[in-house]
Amino acid sequence: MLSYDVIEWGKPLEKAEGEIPKPKGTEVLLRLKYCGVCHSDVHIREGYFELGGGKRLLMTERGMSLPATLGHEPYGTVIAAGPDAADAPIGEDRLVYPWTGCGACARCREGLDNFCMAPAMIGIQRRGGYADHLIVPHPRYLIDAAGIDPTWAAILACSGLSTYAAVSKLNPIPPEEWVAVIGGGGLGLSAIGMLKALGHQHIVVVDIDDAKLKAAKTAGAAATVKGGDADSGKEMQRIAAGPLCAAVDLVGTNETASLALGTLRKGGRLVLVGLYGGEIPLSVVATIQRALTIQGSHLGTVAELKAVLALAREGKIQPIPILKRPLSEVSRTLDELKQGAIVGRVVVEM
Ligand SMILES: [Zn+2]
Ligand SMILES: [Zn+2]
Repeated sequence: MLSYDVIEWGKPLEKAEGEIPKPKGTEVLLRLKYCGVCHSDVHIREGYFELGGGKRLLMTERGMSLPATLGHEPYGTVIAAGPDAADAPIGEDRLVYPWTGCGACARCREGLDNFCMAPAMIGIQRRGGYADHLIVPHPRYLIDAAGIDPTWAAILACSGLSTYAAVSKLNPIPPEEWVAVIGGGGLGLSAIGMLKALGHQHIVVVDIDDAKLKAAKTAGAAATVKGGDADSGKEMQRIAAGPLCAAVDLVGTNETASLALGTLRKGGRLVLVGLYGGEIPLSVVATIQRALTIQGSHLGTVAELKAVLALAREGKIQPIPILKRPLSEVSRTLDELKQGAIVGRVVVEM
């Protein structure tokens, strides 16, 4: 088996060869075809995420140890199953739900693997998809993506699922109310698509980059606002003819979260998704008197991923530009993502 592994934090991935693993118990083995290369792997390869205020979340504190195989957007053919993996679809292609938990706790049994307190995620704590083979802990994490381009399905397991789960937390949104999408990058464009797929039109996108605002308009934003100005919040409220009912922050800096929170009406809701790493001062009294909800949204469930694939299959969300590269270029691709030199998404092909 071939894989590209983190041997030392912050260093390029290294090619490794080993035995093809044998599935045990409920495990299934896939021969991989594709794996999306995600920007979060840039941080994971470094070994930490910034938490704001100079604090860091170390990947070792999240249960990662080296060597590690990253890659949490895998897609491939099921080729073998353990003795307890009933109904494994041997010979068929499947998308893998990567956000697996311990499999045994109450959350995992309810299907809320992403809320497991002992996460064992594929491409984080478990070996991931920058490899030609992959062990998946249970057939319930295999998702049928028939009718959808497999490279697109692969990336839907991360950014598509995260934005769907985030905007779903705003439901039901009164149709006349305005929702702010903070950040017009890949996640922002995906969030616009998900809001529209759920039937919402009044979307105002905020970004500091004019090119991203233009892309947001093309993706269906009803209005855009240049961020980073003292008047950005006022402009958002002018467009909405008053304070907004909800905002989704896909950036996650001090500035973006403060801006979003400051524009909300009483009973408004802020969903935080972006992991840039910020902190906001929070007035307890104002939060109470404005009856605000601030909610984090991290990844999503198996059921939510199936809902995303249904939207894709029905043509309610549209694919984004995807560039295919050989697996051997995965480390270089992470370098380019770090430099901001990739437009759209890269999927490596095995
Ligand atoms: Zn990802
Ligand atoms: Zn669990």
